[in-house]
Amino acid sequence: MTPSQFPLSAIGHIQTPFKQKFAIPRQPNLAKAKGQVVLAPDFDDPRVFKGLEVFSHVWLLFLFHENLDKGWKPSVKAPRLGGNATLGVFASRSTHRPNGIGMSAVKNLGSDIVDGKLTLHVEGVDLLDGTPIIDIKPYLPYADALPHASDSMAELNHAAPIPNLEVTINPLVQNMLNEAASQHPDLPTLLTAVLAQDPRPAYRHKLLSDEKTYHTALYNYDFAFTVKNSVVEVIGINTL
Ligand code: SAM
Repeated sequence: MTPSQFPLSAIGHIQTPFKQKFAIPRQPNLAKAKGQVVLAPDFDDPRVFKGLEVFSHVWLLFLFHENLDKGWKPSVKAPRLGGNATLGVFASRSTHRPNGIGMSAVKNLGSDIVDGKLTLHVEGVDLLDGTPIIDIKPYLPYADALPHASDSMAELNHAAPIPNLEVTINPLVQNMLNEAASQHPDLPTLLTAVLAQDPRPAYRHKLLSDEKTYHTALYNYDFAFTVKNSVVEVIGINTL
């Protein structure tokens, strides 16, 4: 009989600016967040990437390692449907799934050796810093891009569009953001892209003004922000 359990090991880990799950975009390529897949010693062999440079994009297969201990659920809350309506787990991209496997197509920025370790550079990640990567495959447009594929939930307007809120930086924190940007030049653009998508829980999106102050961690900075009249304002920056 075919076995029903199989061993799996991480081929490496990815480094990303996202230090906590909150505020990570819902899918890849919604913000141009960069990531570096650092291969584990058993896979750290330059031959593994031979020929990958001809592909503009790659699939990253990974484990939702921060949620593995929570197990899976047959039906899950769907942020796309406002946060309260549920969908079957296999009709969703929820992290609470059997085997906890995630998949993201991201831009291939090439490989090199960083600090003595074989590293693949990518862009457009929706992965938490430290996420275990279980496989990398080239994205094949002739097979993977399906121009006639449909998503009636979006087409029938049942799904909420990805928010695109205005983001402002309070003048009192602008200097600190400039300082942080001298270390991470992509940080201001990344921060704006992440906050414009309204990282608040989906059920709070209808609150055009929200009394709560929220926090998100990008690179080694904690950002405090509020939402007033549908405008996100960054009101604090602290080094983590
Ligand atoms: N593109 C992938 C997919 O479809 O399989 C991931 C989609 S999932 C909805 C994206 C969310 O996964 C992010 O917003 C983040 O909160 C969460 N996430 C990312 N990395 C994770 C990890 N290592 N463990 C648990 N949750 C993670």
